Amino acid sequence: MAAQETVDHKYVYDFSEGNKDLKDLLGGKGANLAEMTNLGLPVPPGFTITTEACQAYLATGRQPDGLAGQIEAHLESLERAMGKRLGDPRDPLLVSVRSGAKFSMPGMMETVLNVGLNDQSVVGLSAQAGQNDRFAWDSYRRLIQMFGKTVCEVPGEEFEHALDEIKSAKGTHDDLDLDADDLRGLVDAYKKIFSKHTGREFPQQPREQLDLAIRAVFESWNAERAVLYRRQERIPADLGTAVNVVTMVFGNLGPDSGTGVAFTRDPASGAQGIYGDYLANAQGEDVVAGIRNTVPLQELGQLDRASYDELLGIMARLEEHYKDLCDIEFTIERGKLWMLQTRVGKRTAAAAFVIAGQLVDEGLIDLDEALHRVNGAQLAQLMFPRFQLDHEFQPVATGIGASPGAASGAVVFTSARAVELAAEGRSVILVRRETNPDDLNGMIAAKGILTSRGGKTSHAAVVARGMGKTCVSGADDIDVNVPAKRFTVAGQTVSEGDVISIDGTTGKVYLGEVPVMPSEVVQYFEGSLDPEHIDNPLVRAVHRIMTHADGKRRLAVRTNADTGADAARARRFGAEGIGLCRTEHMFLGDRRELVERLILARAPGEREAALAALLPLQRADFEEIFREMDGLPVTVRLIDPPLHEFLPPLEQLAVNVAVAQERGEDVAKEEALLAAVRRMHEENPMLGLRGVRLGLVIPGLFAMQVRAIAEAAVSCARGGGVAKPEIMVPLVGAVQELETVRAEAEKIIAEVVGDSGVEVLIGTMIEVPRAALTAGQIAEAAEFFSFGTNDLTQMGWGFSRDDVEGAFFWRYLELGIFGISPFESIDRDGVGRLVRIAAEEGRAARPGLKLGVCGEHGGDPDSVHFFHEVGLDYVSCSPFRVPVARLEAGRAVVETGGSDSR
Ligand code: ADP
Ligand code: MG
Ligand code: MG
Repeated sequence: MAAQETVDHKYVYDFSEGNKDLKDLLGGKGANLAEMTNLGLPVPPGFTITTEACQAYLATGRQPDGLAGQIEAHLESLERAMGKRLGDPRDPLLVSVRSGAKFSMPGMMETVLNVGLNDQSVVGLSAQAGQNDRFAWDSYRRLIQMFGKTVCEVPGEEFEHALDEIKSAKGTHDDLDLDADDLRGLVDAYKKIFSKHTGREFPQQPREQLDLAIRAVFESWNAERAVLYRRQERIPADLGTAVNVVTMVFGNLGPDSGTGVAFTRDPASGAQGIYGDYLANAQGEDVVAGIRNTVPLQELGQLDRASYDELLGIMARLEEHYKDLCDIEFTIERGKLWMLQTRVGKRTAAAAFVIAGQLVDEGLIDLDEALHRVNGAQLAQLMFPRFQLDHEFQPVATGIGASPGAASGAVVFTSARAVELAAEGRSVILVRRETNPDDLNGMIAAKGILTSRGGKTSHAAVVARGMGKTCVSGADDIDVNVPAKRFTVAGQTVSEGDVISIDGTTGKVYLGEVPVMPSEVVQYFEGSLDPEHIDNPLVRAVHRIMTHADGKRRLAVRTNADTGADAARARRFGAEGIGLCRTEHMFLGDRRELVERLILARAPGEREAALAALLPLQRADFEEIFREMDGLPVTVRLIDPPLHEFLPPLEQLAVNVAVAQERGEDVAKEEALLAAVRRMHEENPMLGLRGVRLGLVIPGLFAMQVRAIAEAAVSCARGGGVAKPEIMVPLVGAVQELETVRAEAEKIIAEVVGDSGVEVLIGTMIEVPRAALTAGQIAEAAEFFSFGTNDLTQMGWGFSRDDVEGAFFWRYLELGIFGISPFESIDRDGVGRLVRIAAEEGRAARPGLKLGVCGEHGGDPDSVHFFHEVGLDYVSCSPFRVPVARLEAGRAVVETGGSDSR
């Protein structure tokens, strides 16, 4: 037994041992390198250290037992296979040390290339490359730079500075103009920078370089920007990263070498074709860093036909294998193609729908899978408006449409300024030559991002797409001057604070604020675009997938609507009823006067008169809504907020009274109001006299509303329509409350409805924790439950939304107490548990009890999945969220658990 316990846990996998389904263990990069290796594609040999090793290292601060030995063994077999030894002075094996987590985190983690070079092996490398000194010293200076920056935290600018100095001494901007001697000098300069900052010489031992680099990759998991990115993307904090050790191949060996990135379809529009950037005589990271201007991938066809054809063949093969859009990184070393990375590529929302539709057409996936591959957040993005362009607006520059959307805002040039202005509530566009991970905060704060360099695969483009932010990249007519806080374009100067507009679909940049128009997806939902006849691949794909979702889903989708106009719009968006019609707006505007009379009434007669005056107004409101929702259920909530919300604020009244008194006017009415406001003041209005409590305290109030609803339904029926009212009592905590309201309501309904055939249901909101916990009793008096998850969240957690969101939510999110605000997405463990209990116990007491949700969570993708699981009958959400809820309710049915399409 003891002997067995000492058997090492396996922490290191050769590429030939893994596959694409091992992302948890090998990270996305490692799993896909293994997959490509096993497909027989040209991948440089290497091995992957698992995320488990990283987790163990981060937990204990040291490498787990057995790891060092396994790395040693895998390195030895790599050396045997390559016939070279790591850092051998005469013919060195060099490796890259690359991070790679389960979910891709572009630019977030660290990679070190050329590990194994030192003062001796640089000479060997040159000899092996045919006395190519320039190449060898270029590789060595890159190692010191990357190693210094990522492993030893030497400030990267210092290296860049030294490089700029040498370039300007030579009078050039292009690093290709530096010769071997320049680069040898640069290595010396870099070494000095290294030792100045670290207090030690640059490590000459290849194994030490390797070990330090591996450790640095582990530690980069907890670097600030990685933590920030994970929070944005809701990636769990405890996954850890894998580390890939990969034999180096060289794109910087001369003009017949190079490096590139590519997508198998356009990640912005989904259009079929080959999209990518290529850079000759360069090492990997140069392409993404935008250091020199890349050429479109198609030009590789002229430079190196054989490699280009091979690449296209591999891309086709990968698409067929992964059955999805793939992105890849490759390097060509003296005419030999090497695959360095692939993954199912990120894409815009529009591309997600278009590609899913195309793949169905191509027979690669079925409609269930297509539904699984899109999501409600993407659909929501597609419902944003776009620019309305006429001749008045001419673009001043055109870059690459890197992430779609229409954004206008004040120009800022630094991340810090973006954050500042955004905090003041202004829309800003972050303008940079190119972005890097340090710009993340500014990118989050900005409405859009504009860069003058870099392609569709630049940092700005990739990160913006992930965030769903509008981005135009590589608008190279724009000359950005960050220190002077301005850019110039087409002879004009744009300074910080000036407003510009950027179109992330077309890549066009405009001065001033361009007006916007609605999205075609919204037009389709509104019924003004016929999906069968329109030549718009996006609308066709959305139509097809939505139709499939509707066919699959079990949850009905209703809307929250208080007016006929809202109801009509929501119905066009596919709402199958109203889940929440609030009645409080019916007490506002010119009806305030009546409400004041109601509140100030001294004698029953005065109150009754006020209610009688309100009755026909309410009835007309309901008639309009029933007409729009003809044939569909309409849940009307009886009045919910505390009545003092309908009166002027205390301070204002006090001033009015004082001023009027001063003038010697008659202030009897103002004084009475002021007294009422004082009397009705509550310390915690949220927990005060509201909801059902009002109905029990103010005679005739609920009765008037019930009568208005019933009369409206009857009048609708008489007009040939079908009204299906459901009267909902808010804030019930005990069955007795509901029973009291119900007894009175039933009498009125019976009287009004007579033999009209109208049926009126009576039910309750479940929004007080006690109601959830006594749902079995409450169900005896309720024909339906509707979960008010906003109040249930407030009361479940014991905080009021208005007070807490600004006060401390940021801290709770930072500490990980919330992964996401419980008002945005339902807290499954706590508030969700209350929902579950109430659903189960309610249904047990009354089989057939209708269950729905009418809080804002009804339109949140993740929450919709939860409500599906709990077995509710419907969700209800704002009109614009209805399509999102329909889609997610369908996805909840086809959801298989694991997902590649993040
Ligand atoms: P990221 O996750 O930021 O893309 P990578 O680990 O993919 O980081 O590496 C950064 C760059 O270095 C990429 O362009 C990649 O293609 C290149 N690269 C990584 N490993 C090698 C290698 N063994 N040989 C040549 N280039 C490499
Ligand atoms: Mg990469
Ligand atoms: Mg409520």
